[in-house]
Amino acid sequence: MDKKVRVRFAPSPTGGLHLGGVRTALFNYLFAKKNNGTFVLRVEDTDQNRFVEGAEQYIVDCLDWCGITPDESPNNPGVYGPYRQSERKPSYRKFAEQLISDGYAYYAFDTPEDLDAKRKEIPNFQYGQATRMQMHNSLTLTISEVEDLLAAKTPYVIRIKVPEQEIVHFNDLIRGNVSFETAIVDDKVLLKADGMPTYHLAVVVDDKAMEISHAFRGEEWLPSAPIHILLWKYLGWESDMPQWAHLPLILKPDGHGKLSKRDGDRLGFPVYAMNWTDPKTNDVTQGFKELGFMPEAFINMLALLGWNDGTEKEIFTLSELVAAFSIERISKAGAKFDFEKAKWYNHEWIKQSPVDTLQKSVKNELEKAGIEVGDDAFLNTVIDLIKDRCTLLPDFVAQSTYFFNAPTEYDSASVKPKWTPEKAAFFNAYAENLILTDVISAETAFKTLADEKGFKPGELMLPFRIMLVGGKFGPGVFDIAILLGKEETKSRIEKAIIVFNS
Ligand code: GLU
Repeated sequence: MDKKVRVRFAPSPTGGLHLGGVRTALFNYLFAKKNNGTFVLRVEDTDQNRFVEGAEQYIVDCLDWCGITPDESPNNPGVYGPYRQSERKPSYRKFAEQLISDGYAYYAFDTPEDLDAKRKEIPNFQYGQATRMQMHNSLTLTISEVEDLLAAKTPYVIRIKVPEQEIVHFNDLIRGNVSFETAIVDDKVLLKADGMPTYHLAVVVDDKAMEISHAFRGEEWLPSAPIHILLWKYLGWESDMPQWAHLPLILKPDGHGKLSKRDGDRLGFPVYAMNWTDPKTNDVTQGFKELGFMPEAFINMLALLGWNDGTEKEIFTLSELVAAFSIERISKAGAKFDFEKAKWYNHEWIKQSPVDTLQKSVKNELEKAGIEVGDDAFLNTVIDLIKDRCTLLPDFVAQSTYFFNAPTEYDSASVKPKWTPEKAAFFNAYAENLILTDVISAETAFKTLADEKGFKPGELMLPFRIMLVGGKFGPGVFDIAILLGKEETKSRIEKAIIVFNS
């Protein structure tokens, strides 16, 4: 029987969550949901020097915002806990020791000074098969020397003993057969001097203990794969090894190298899912959420970075992604990040979302801008009228302020040069007899009066729009007038006539 699908997103909580990390989480989620599996969040916090206050909760919040909440996590544990590696500390040492007794690992007593000296002596020094016999470790010391050092509590690490002249093969679900020559793989530390495992040991022990069936992770982990494959083998667990899938990198917009936070700062777009506040400096790095992305658009955009369903379809809901997802359609090549395209997704999502979905976020944006929103029914009509014009959620502010507050400034330059007393007379007469029952009658009344007064309606439309809106933008001017109502429209016309006359 096939193993039950259990996948994990295993971030190290060291700061903001990069969009590549969210995409890894998303592909894990999609694969789990597609296969009735379980999506696990495991916090890889074994590096205590890199501990960052608040980073774990921030990751949880990002996943929640994206709508891809894990089934098992530190705050919502299943039976495979703990879900933080720091809390699993006691479970690792025995495996490191087992590897030593089986001849697959060794104690290394080299001090930082020893290592520094070696680095100076040998360019590009790597602790491994070419150098290990020159070092201070249980391969070069006698048994009794090692025992004495251990008894004297001399600090040590445990390193894997990578075999010489072997080829490590594995099948990657995206890349097919991958192989590494062990000559280029160094003897990675497995257990650190503080007794904590390194990532390499912890990832294998935990994937086994948590019965992980498939390991999706970024391509940057591919060079570590041979170490992991060897550990699965040396620990005698090969038949339980997860299937690997190394996801293509998300590249800088020019395609040269992996997209980094610095590229975002340089080119003016976010790289993190949500705002991240560095707890030490209080510096805030802007996220997609706060810039005004809808979570639906954000994950839709991410899913299409390195995957497609084989058709031209680009807009997918989360459940459509679950239904359409397949590993076979993940590309091997890196995917260039294109911020304009990301905005396009958001625009499409705003356009196609029902008012009810948008209402809460739009209200929030308007309130942040100090606009008194009032009646929900009115707000909903406004949203419906302008959503096609908004790319990011804060655009709703600029596109709708005039519905809530009469303009205080006008684009007079577009009106005044052609403004005449006759036009003022037209608008005075128009304001006296406003017909705003529906768009067609409103427009007909406007045109009839224009004809009577000897104007082409086209000459009057722009001044009318600027009277109501303040500028040359917005949806149909009669739609706006109808929504504002008779009294408000009249008052705006009268106020603007005074400005244009002056
Ligand atoms: N802790 C690693 C990271 O920060 C996880 C890599 C893996 O999934 O094996 O991305």
